[in-house]
Amino acid sequence: MIGTNKIQVPKIGILKTYERLPQLNPKSVSISRIADRWFISFRFDVEQQQSLKTSIVGVDLGIKVLATLSTGEIFIGAKSYKKYEAKLSRMQWLHRHKIIGSANWKKAQIQIAKLHAKIRNIRSYSLHKLTTLLAKNHGTVVIENLNVSGMMANHKLSKAIADMSFFQFRRQLTYKCELYGSKLVVADRWFPSSKTCSNCGTKKETLSLSERVFSCEHCGFVMDRDLNAAVNLSKVTS
Ligand SMILES: [Zn+2]
Repeated sequence: MIGTNKIQVPKIGILKTYERLPQLNPKSVSISRIADRWFISFRFDVEQQQSLKTSIVGVDLGIKVLATLSTGEIFIGAKSYKKYEAKLSRMQWLHRHKIIGSANWKKAQIQIAKLHAKIRNIRSYSLHKLTTLLAKNHGTVVIENLNVSGMMANHKLSKAIADMSFFQFRRQLTYKCELYGSKLVVADRWFPSSKTCSNCGTKKETLSLSERVFSCEHCGFVMDRDLNAAVNLSKVTS
């Protein structure tokens, strides 16, 4: 039984929730605990939404910004968790210098778990926002097939990639495109989206990570590196 802000759960009874609950019959319900908070999640069967979207969007995932779209839109993502990360490492340091098992140690442990959960929520929120926007508004979404294990070997990159949770991004986009009736295209792993000129198609031999602007020696075209990559992706449609 589901009310607007309460749900009846077998064995436990009626629970009040902070958020409004959807007025649908869920297939299953699960309750989980993260740090000191309880979460309830539902599974629904939904009708696929058919739409007549024809636009194609290429998405370049980045380190400085979460995503650059071929339409020129930039998705900054959640910057705010950076300040919490600094706080987290400070708390972890303090935790290591307390007496193991003491009341203070336990208290610090709970605070650390809460902060972890907060950072996770902030990240997850911005990813959901991005993937919904993409799937809902575009007929075709083209993304890169990132060689994550290869990139993880590069330590500087690995943190940024872990931050933007590429796997989550792809997983969300897969089911949301299905839901909103859009097509998801994953470009070939070796597709040189960054090195190719989106104006004339000439491919550069080398392009270092520090080069933030793409400039073509062949046709003289100049464009933001990430936008150039996104435009190239938008041309991959099969
Ligand atoms: Zn060119």
